[in-house]
Amino acid sequence: MAHTEVDSSLPIVWRDSADPKDYEEARVGRVFNQRRPQRFPIAVVLAETDSHVLQAVQLANKLDCRVSVRSGGHSWAAWSVRDNAVLIELGKLKHISVDKEAMIASVSPSTTGQMLNDTLSAEGLMFCGGHCPDVGLGGFLLQGGMGWNCRNWGWACENILALDVVTANGEAIHVDAKENSDLLWASKGAGPGFPAVITRFHLKIRKQIPAMLSSTFLYPIARYDEVMNWIISITPSFDSSTEIVAVSATPPGIDQLCIIPLFVTFQESDEECRVALQQANSTRPEGYLIEEVNKRTSLAKEYKDQANANPHGHRYCAENGYVKNDVDVAEVLKKAFTTLPTSKAFALWYAMAPCSRRELPDMALSMQSDHYFALYTIWKDEKDDDRCQAWVREIMKEVAPQCEGAYLGDSDFQVRQTKYWTDDKARTLMKLRNKWDPAGRICGYLDHGDQAGVAGLLNNDEWCNGY
Ligand SMILES: Cc1cc2nc3c(=O)[nH]c(=O)nc-3n(C[C@H](O)[C@H](O)[C@H](O)COP(=O)(O)OP(=O)(O)OC[C@H]3O[C@@H](n4cnc5c(N)ncnc54)[C@H](O)[C@@H]3O)c2cc1C
Repeated sequence: MAHTEVDSSLPIVWRDSADPKDYEEARVGRVFNQRRPQRFPIAVVLAETDSHVLQAVQLANKLDCRVSVRSGGHSWAAWSVRDNAVLIELGKLKHISVDKEAMIASVSPSTTGQMLNDTLSAEGLMFCGGHCPDVGLGGFLLQGGMGWNCRNWGWACENILALDVVTANGEAIHVDAKENSDLLWASKGAGPGFPAVITRFHLKIRKQIPAMLSSTFLYPIARYDEVMNWIISITPSFDSSTEIVAVSATPPGIDQLCIIPLFVTFQESDEECRVALQQANSTRPEGYLIEEVNKRTSLAKEYKDQANANPHGHRYCAENGYVKNDVDVAEVLKKAFTTLPTSKAFALWYAMAPCSRRELPDMALSMQSDHYFALYTIWKDEKDDDRCQAWVREIMKEVAPQCEGAYLGDSDFQVRQTKYWTDDKARTLMKLRNKWDPAGRICGYLDHGDQAGVAGLLNNDEWCNGY
């Protein structure tokens, strides 16, 4: 098909005719991870309207090639960049509207958590988007979404009420609990295997929480055993509106690896916050380097801290697992937390109970445990690629057998696959992919060699020799 046959109003950058700089910017300019993939779409559609998305999918059908999608560009493994696909870049498709009475926000998928909360906070409202300010709601919600106060408020995707999508065969349809409801089910946890292109999410929002305080304690990493066992032991009885995290990192100005328990509480008043944090403040082990107790915080401040911890312009390798509830979690994670390969890298344990102990609504997302563990390995120079990735692999060889499965959001199926869903949900999801996209038009899961196609993932443990 000649390029001239394409509607001239469609903003499209062709690989074979664009200025190479423009093509490169369109291909990876909005990809967060600087470890750029050697994969090349045939064209990138810089969609500004729903109609551009529709045209792009119809074009891919005419060309008989695949479609890939980019919302916020924060997939660690750059799932949006695929060989010989039409890449639909949604960065310029911008929409946020709020129905305060119905408590519903309608957003385009490239809207970030911070953009949405900036709009909502003016109305005294909020949404439990991702912790990092610039993660796109598109990829985040499809994967489930570990958003603000996830252990108590549940998965962000539970708040998806409806969607507007373009199907793989190029039709614009509405999806909700009554119409095309199986796609609504899939949107809550299918991740990059969702078999359509979403142009709008309709989300349930909540009232803004009036008070947020945090307590943070920094210990030298030599105290790992005691500190980690302490935070794990107090979690089951801790206030249920408090996020509980342990991170190992090298904080600027401290310049040594530390183990850092962090508690952020969301309450109706400062007094309630102080009461909630008391259990941590009064039982934390002695011997800390720094403690910050009952410190006033806000979403804006937390976004800033997260952005500092995940700097732009760096190379990243993320990995993760849901550690089994009945193992010695501190022991299983010890090597990961104490041997980080760069001073920017960090390891994270995130308390998921009580969310992990309740029955989840019927949706694709179905894998969880009380203990979420993730590695965020961060470095600047390409020369460190092999060393850093080898470290991640070595750690995961030991940790993975102690895990139930993993979260799609911090996974790379080119390297390792495991269970992302319970077996019954995985079977239903792969059937739905086949129903809605039998030709494999939408790229789907990027496994080693990009072979997964319509069949999707096996939902089994496997190392894929990705690097
Ligand atoms: C710095 C950083 C911080 C993070 N923090 C969190 C966090 O706090 N909680 C959490 O749960 N996760 C977090 N993540 C993981 C994040 O949720 C995933 O990487 C997610 O994929 C990012 O979404 P995106 O839209 O920005 O990514 P993209 O790379 O744009 O999208 C990823 C993939 O999702 C699919 N997709 C996206 N949009 C659409 C659409 N409109 N229609 C159909 N398919 C679509 C496509 O397959 C696409 O390739 C973080 C990631 C980074 C890099």
